[in-house]
Amino acid sequence: MDVRAAGSADEELLLDLLNTTPVIDGVPHDGLSELKVANAWMRARGIEPSERERAALVSAREALQAVVRGVAAPSSLAAFVGGVALRPVATDDGLDWHVEVAGPVDGAVRAVLAWDALRITSPGRLRPCANTECQLFLIDRSKPNTARWCSMAICGNRMKARRHYRRTHASE
Ligand SMILES: [Zn+2]
Repeated sequence: MDVRAAGSADEELLLDLLNTTPVIDGVPHDGLSELKVANAWMRARGIEPSERERAALVSAREALQAVVRGVAAPSSLAAFVGGVALRPVATDDGLDWHVEVAGPVDGAVRAVLAWDALRITSPGRLRPCANTECQLFLIDRSKPNTARWCSMAICGNRMKARRHYRRTHASE
């Protein structure tokens, strides 16, 4: 039984997981397909590497990507939270709610819980990059909530250049 504090501590894990399928120079990549790379990825995020974990992460990633893209309902995440329970722990300040996960530490569960924490605390701020050729996601932490690109340096400039190209060439 693993006990960890509920909350948004795993936002980075969630975003990193969503972003393990980048398109590089038009070619889709999968950062979790190769066992050695996947093991290092898991280890770096406090997940005990195993084939079971890798498989769970890959299917959670698929489900979460679909939910964030708006093509699947959050009920499709049911499979990942079946073994999750909340347990109150009394402290001097009040109750701390801890998430209990039946079975080993589960990266998939952590990612799904982080998705839900974001849904509650920052609705709409986790979204796909506006570059349709980009498969990455972003968490918009800007005050006006107007970020559109996974990275201004990459997709932002690329899209700007494309618009500029279209503008200048349309008038020819
Ligand atoms: Zn992008």
